[in-house]
Amino acid sequence: MITPSITERATFSEFLKSFNETLKNVFYERDDMDKLIQERGFPALVLQDIMANNPLSVGIPKEYGGRGTEVKEILGILEASSYESLPLSLTFGINIALFLGPVAKYAQETVKENVFTRFLTQQNMGGLMITEPDYGSDALNMQTTNARNGSNYHIKGTKHWQGLTGMADYWLITSRQKYENGELGRDIDFFICDVQQPYQSIRVEEYYNNMGLCPIPYGKNFVDIQVPEQFKLEPESTGLKLLMDLLHRSRYQFPGMGMGFIRRMLDEAINHCTSRIIGGRPLMVLDQVQHQISKIQSAFTICSAMCLRSSVHSGIDNNLASETVEANSMKAYITDLMQESAQTMTQLSGANGYKAESIGIRGIVDSRPFQIFEGSNEMLYTQISEMVLKLMIRQKTMNLAEFLMGYKLTKNVADHFKSMLNFTIDMKVLQRKSVDLGKIISRVVSANLVADLETKGFRQDLIGNSLETIKHEISMFVSSYKFQTRVVPIEEYRDSSSWLSLC
Ligand SMILES: Cc1cc2nc3c(=O)[nH]c(=O)nc-3n(C[C@H](O)[C@H](O)[C@H](O)COP(=O)(O)OP(=O)(O)OC[C@H]3O[C@@H](n4cnc5c(N)ncnc54)[C@H](O)[C@@H]3O)c2cc1C
Repeated sequence: MITPSITERATFSEFLKSFNETLKNVFYERDDMDKLIQERGFPALVLQDIMANNPLSVGIPKEYGGRGTEVKEILGILEASSYESLPLSLTFGINIALFLGPVAKYAQETVKENVFTRFLTQQNMGGLMITEPDYGSDALNMQTTNARNGSNYHIKGTKHWQGLTGMADYWLITSRQKYENGELGRDIDFFICDVQQPYQSIRVEEYYNNMGLCPIPYGKNFVDIQVPEQFKLEPESTGLKLLMDLLHRSRYQFPGMGMGFIRRMLDEAINHCTSRIIGGRPLMVLDQVQHQISKIQSAFTICSAMCLRSSVHSGIDNNLASETVEANSMKAYITDLMQESAQTMTQLSGANGYKAESIGIRGIVDSRPFQIFEGSNEMLYTQISEMVLKLMIRQKTMNLAEFLMGYKLTKNVADHFKSMLNFTIDMKVLQRKSVDLGKIISRVVSANLVADLETKGFRQDLIGNSLETIKHEISMFVSSYKFQTRVVPIEEYRDSSSWLSLC
């Protein structure tokens, strides 16, 4: 065990204040910061200043010198960072949710101290390798293998799109056990790779030219390493359950990254629309502008509600493997709201919103992949529907309103949406309907969180506006769900489809 560090002794508000001051210094008082954050990689001096505050200590247990893995603190750091820079916040999100958290929970005691000490004293970083070129959404069929070799494991395969490619000091690498007959096990094993050790370096075959999130390096990684057996994570039951616990906890942390980002879009939109004068009046007096900004403000309230819920529910002591509905609802809905808020901000900025350095357009490109990684949103909405349908069948209730009024994640608020949701779910729906249904359920789950936020004393006017905005959204998805269509693309569409030949 190491001695408590200085970061542990400060109260969280002192710690956050000092962190915010550093961010302000780095992002506003240095020249050319806009230019710097569009370049590849974080500038070394900038990162050094930020990391000197030890922001990652919030993801490290107290007994190893960290601040103790309190979700409230983790989300606080993610929020402060994403107000200034979404890539910076994602960098912390990767380190905390995808590396430090799983290590704190599942690594063997003998290896933890060294890993955490290097994070605290040498500004080390870590990421997670799941995706392979041929296995992205279909990650469970990954082909990276592990085979025992004396007291080591030999891990071999190709991974790609890992955040912090070529930059991380540690990786959590997923793989499947290779049996002697060459077949691969169904379970997923996790190993900590320390790239500073012999036989553990990862060869970067290619760096990708990612459109947004420019400071974070991505690429293709060739893995052919020997890892000592004590660096294998120990699941409570199966590796698949460990994977679900890890991914769900990470999804519960997305609102932390969303919080600062959406708050920034809201502040920028209000500032711009109250100061931009069109036809002698500020933009803000226009009804459509008010409607658009109120949607960003509703996103702010929803995100606040999600953060509150995460902070009490998603700590590492709680196993989240079975929390699919809530975790997926948070991740998919908040990332849709991040993208929508950035789109609105860009539109309201007019032509200047199209400058590369505009906060809106940068927000569009930076937040776009959040709808794709860690489970594409369509897939997550489908899973929400499937899980809820299973519960409905078990309870022999196929009426959506009736089910949601008794369901633990929606029962406090379902009455509010009763008349809209009073219909029977068809068991054999097309996937497009499952996605609509998943969107409806995720909105009701989130409205329930907003109602909980109200009971804790959050501003009443923001709560009321947000619930009405969610209701509007649900009514649009219900209409889409009920609209009967089986339209599919016609792949061979080129014959008799040229307007020019008809002139
Ligand atoms: C910026 C960024 C950061 C990333 N960070 C990491 C990281 O740190 N570590 C890591 O291991 N990976 C990371 N990834 C990889 C990411 O998780 C995968 O790209 C993602 O899982 C999708 O896999 P794929 O790209 O192979 O797409 P595919 O599996 O080919 O899917 C393509 C699209 O098809 C659709 N689709 C697929 N399956 C379904 C379904 N079941 N239902 C409906 N639609 C579906 C979706 O629209 C999906 O986006 C990152 C990716 C990006 C872009």
